[in-house]
Amino acid sequence: MKKDPEKYCHRCGNKFGVSKLMSWFTTEMLCDECRKKDSMLRDTFPNRARDYEGCGFLPLDIKEKK
Ligand SMILES: [Zn+2]
Repeated sequence: MKKDPEKYCHRCGNKFGVSKLMSWFTTEMLCDECRKKDSMLRDTFPNRARDYEGCGFLPLDIKEKK
């Protein structure tokens, strides 16, 4: 059964809490926890990953080169 994307995080599948927020990198709607991780990933880039806004993927491999 497919989970309702209005109610569940698109990344981890947990139920949304009080808020759902769009990822910086993709169009996924994220729970607080995933959004926090998204934000932490963003912080590892110069200019807070401005170049990767809406790029459609998580630039994790790039981060690991740091
Ligand atoms: Zn999540």
